[in-house]
Amino acid sequence: RGLEKYFPIKKGVMRLTKGNVRAVDGVSFDVKAGETFGLVGESGCGKSTTGRSILRLIEPTGGEVIFDGKDIRKLGQTEMRKMRKEMQIVFQDPYASLNPRYTVRQILEEPMIIHGLHGGAAERKKKVIDLLETVGLSGSRMNRYPHEFSGGQRQRIGIARALAVSPKLIIADEPVSALDVSVQSQVLNLMNDLQNEYGIAYVFIAHDLSVVKHISDRIGVMYLGKLVELGPAEELYEKPLHPYTQALLSAVPIPDPEIKRERIILQGDLPSPSNPPSGCYFHPRCKDCMAICKTTAPEWKEVEPNRFVACHLYN
Ligand code: SF4
Ligand code: MG
Repeated sequence: RGLEKYFPIKKGVMRLTKGNVRAVDGVSFDVKAGETFGLVGESGCGKSTTGRSILRLIEPTGGEVIFDGKDIRKLGQTEMRKMRKEMQIVFQDPYASLNPRYTVRQILEEPMIIHGLHGGAAERKKKVIDLLETVGLSGSRMNRYPHEFSGGQRQRIGIARALAVSPKLIIADEPVSALDVSVQSQVLNLMNDLQNEYGIAYVFIAHDLSVVKHISDRIGVMYLGKLVELGPAEELYEKPLHPYTQALLSAVPIPDPEIKRERIILQGDLPSPSNPPSGCYFHPRCKDCMAICKTTAPEWKEVEPNRFVACHLYN
């Protein structure tokens, strides 16, 4: 609710600008048990910072993160450690996120040991083998090191590590972006199967709408630290409301050659969040920009049931 992460601007770097970089600027959404919430936007829009702020890997500067009815920002260290068992993260780069000096067995045992799960060594070893098999790898490879696996296999190990503590929520931060296209769908299918089996909720972060299309129940689109549109995945694809969503979607290829969609080219670059445009942050790049857009920020509104958008076109 109203999640904020402001970073102070370092003195001397940008002398003319005062105050903060609003990396996450009042973001609100719900994730239901067992659902996938896709969080989409260009790099630098604050989606990763949102994901990390939810887990308090980065401490938010404002707002609430309510999990099972509790604002986890109010939890002390001990309670927070328990809570971490419920929420895990899978990172974009499966190589950088796995300790190269640890065997796969050590990597998977670490979260169990931290959270005091699965008792003694024999029990943990059994769990490691189970986990590897759950993600489609052979348990016989548990004494190997990350570099002995392919990119897709390493991401499976990253997923197994998240599963080790049986979380209710996984923040998946661009989990397939670093993988070959042929491997991406395998990892997405695996995540989908795991969700069906264990009822895990995902916040699935991506810069590309085509990746989240099949996996998401609902999608939120972010621009410069704010949500600009949120709705059920299918409706958002059929009829994107916000001009930014329309532009992102126009870049997604349609498999059916009969259907033609006009490609909307975004003007200019993503502005810096340290110096955002006036009014609607998207106005310098918007094909539908009106006079009011340059002066007044649009309100976040539910314009149709379950469909939220911040845009003056819907006032
Ligand atoms: Fe475009 Fe105006 Fe809507 Fe912003 S508020 S997206 S500038 S039409
Ligand atoms: Mg990112």
